[in-house]
Amino acid sequence: MVSLSSYIKKLGEKMSNMQPWKQNVASIIDFAEKIFPDVEVVTRELSGKISTTNYKNISLRAKKLGSALEKFGIEKEQCVGSLALNTFRNMEMYYGISGMGAVMHTINFRLHPEQVVYIINHAENRLIFLEPVFAPLLEAVQDKCPMVEKFVLLCAKEEMPETNLKDAVSYEEFIENGDESYTWPELEEDAPCGLCYTSGTTGNPKGVLYSHKSTLLHAWAGSSANGLGLQKNDSILMVVPMFHVMGWGLPYLAPMNGIKLVLPGMGMDGAALTELIEKESVTLAFGVPTIWLGLLNYCKENNIKLESVKQTIIGGSAVPYSMIKQFDEEHDINVIQGWGMTETSPLATANLKTPAMEKLSKDELYKLQTKQGKPIYGVELKIVDDEGSVLPNDGEAFGRLLIRGPWINKRYYKFEEDAVDADGWFDTGDISTIDSEGYMTIVDRAKDVIKSGGEWISSVDLENVAQGHPDIMQACVIGVAHPKWDERPLLLVVPANDKKDKDDIFGYLDGKIAKWWKPDDIVFLEELPLGATGKVLKVNLRDQYKDHLMS
Ligand code: AMP
Repeated sequence: MVSLSSYIKKLGEKMSNMQPWKQNVASIIDFAEKIFPDVEVVTRELSGKISTTNYKNISLRAKKLGSALEKFGIEKEQCVGSLALNTFRNMEMYYGISGMGAVMHTINFRLHPEQVVYIINHAENRLIFLEPVFAPLLEAVQDKCPMVEKFVLLCAKEEMPETNLKDAVSYEEFIENGDESYTWPELEEDAPCGLCYTSGTTGNPKGVLYSHKSTLLHAWAGSSANGLGLQKNDSILMVVPMFHVMGWGLPYLAPMNGIKLVLPGMGMDGAALTELIEKESVTLAFGVPTIWLGLLNYCKENNIKLESVKQTIIGGSAVPYSMIKQFDEEHDINVIQGWGMTETSPLATANLKTPAMEKLSKDELYKLQTKQGKPIYGVELKIVDDEGSVLPNDGEAFGRLLIRGPWINKRYYKFEEDAVDADGWFDTGDISTIDSEGYMTIVDRAKDVIKSGGEWISSVDLENVAQGHPDIMQACVIGVAHPKWDERPLLLVVPANDKKDKDDIFGYLDGKIAKWWKPDDIVFLEELPLGATGKVLKVNLRDQYKDHLMS
């Protein structure tokens, strides 16, 4: 009898007899072109016009782009920058750029211009694709980006604005000379395909470089029954920006599964979104809480029910109980909360509805849905204390959340040292609990947690409760200096109406939170400052109100 190892050795195989895997994300759009050619991709263009294309056209035009990039002289592993909205052209870039072996570098156009300059230079972009609306932003800083040789504006030739951007050309002209029969190269196992920088509220943004393999694995995992809850007949509204963690993987997941995509372009307001939802019979919508707040308010004011939508996936920051309730009661929409970060590709946990959840009371269900969910296969989670000792999964103990897996960041782009410990665990900077069923709950961002007299108060929990008050549209809790307790919670409120009654709010909180968690004061604000990905900028608020309780 020949042993397995000598048999394998004889064949010259490494470990088994299976075929090697072509690791190019463009294989997804190739597949969609053949198997789901007519599935629609709908875009609200900058003009407001709604246009429809399909996966076949996107695939053919992505190939034209890939070959045009090659003709231009873009080489494998070079980063090509984009300041782009959610549109069909952005989908083509996702495949055209990564598919030809370069790196799709998505730039968050909401960042401060100095950060945009830093990112462009750090990634050594030679070529930048941009929406015509962002031309003024780049015109003002192009002198500070000497490596950029050419700017491609995402429009037709006749839509080109007056611009002094270097060697500017329209996208349609740029791809004109491309070849739609271009074949994607085969790439190395860990070849890079995408680059995203963290929002960087402190210090310079840091780049996370995704590989073809990690992106494909992430897309498969997201498509699984424990992933993002996609259904064959879904019409997906992708409100999450394509510059934020590769659009949460949706540009890959949707064509991989032959699912219709609806892309809102610039139209993020309630009127534009509801029109698109109704017209395109959207069934599954992806967004962050701040945008959904605007949508829910718009629907309430205009008496609109989002009839077609069955589920919404929300992530990016904690989803308040009141939002989950409102989606269910007013629109019959189930909320799936997801948690992840730029460093985790992003999908790590999801809170999908299970048969057991159907049996819960509404209140129990909504409470359970405020948890960030269970990990999907491929990622592992653990919580540790300050000394690094593992804490129990009892739903009570909370500590730093660590994660590892094949689509989790190992090292930031161009950094020498690893961002993980010796066993591959990445510290997320979030504080959380994990319960005996595996549900992970974010208690706070480590830097947002409030330390009052040595005890911890969760700003997320307090916000969640406060947000349930009928006169509160948005609530934010920060820790501010206190002469006796070091730090105490301060509640900042954007009112839902003219009523600004502190006593009423304090009365509402009584009994719903521990007595010593009660905020020391309430401040009413017109709006909360938002960061580049829609998260409340607590750093700014902490700075602004740091002495509020000292006087
Ligand atoms: P970013 O890298 O910009 O996507 O930010 C990632 C961070 O957003 C995480 O580390 C969390 O602090 C926060 N985050 C993302 N999803 C959630 C969620 N569902 N609940 C609470 N915080 C979240």
